[in-house]
Amino acid sequence: MPAGSSSQYQYFGVADHSKSAHYARGLLPEEIEEQHEEIDKLNRRYDGAFKIFKGIESDILADGSLDYPDEILARFDFVVASVHSRLRLPRGEQTERILRAVSNPFTTILGHMTGRQLLRRPGADVDVEQILAACARHGVAVEINANPWRLDLDWRSHRRALELGCLMSIDPDAHSTDEIDLVHWGVKMARKGGVPPIKVLSCWDVRTLGRWLSARKRRPERGAGTVRRDRAA
Ligand SMILES: [Zn+2]
Repeated sequence: MPAGSSSQYQYFGVADHSKSAHYARGLLPEEIEEQHEEIDKLNRRYDGAFKIFKGIESDILADGSLDYPDEILARFDFVVASVHSRLRLPRGEQTERILRAVSNPFTTILGHMTGRQLLRRPGADVDVEQILAACARHGVAVEINANPWRLDLDWRSHRRALELGCLMSIDPDAHSTDEIDLVHWGVKMARKGGVPPIKVLSCWDVRTLGRWLSARKRRPERGAGTVRRDRAA
């Protein structure tokens, strides 16, 4: 989740892969601690001039649960929940699995909803409408994945997402610092989809986003009720 103004970022969200993806250098709990210490150190040094948010891309397991226990998920500023395996489950089962992840109180953003990779593999067969409605209900932002292999959620569904009350998040899915610039593809796709910046978390200024993320964390039952989505307006 990198973001800020188009010309200069005010903040950056780190979201490494989680432990299920250790093959993709997913983080083990002790590595998370180390990363967080480093982030705290940098944030102190930046002294408000720039901010790093602590995130993770947590795998959605086969049953829809996330692959870290709650006490670890609670340490992050934001959690991107994503499907990376078992993309061929039947529609009903796949949809249920994602709905469960969306209803997880620690989920902040639903990453690349269908898991498609353009020209490589089709996405999972899911009930997009039902998932979008759940995202709106639980205050989970829908990712507009800017990686040109993904461009997922597809622009054709953006308007519907907005109608249902979803917020979006344009993320580059960067696996190296070079790839942060991929975010521009997401911006273009969001424009094509008719998404205004105010509906995109990653277009908000650092204070608004920080307040929104903390408000989500403070929710008493972590998930009961939704956060006021006009907070940023
Ligand atoms: Zn991913």
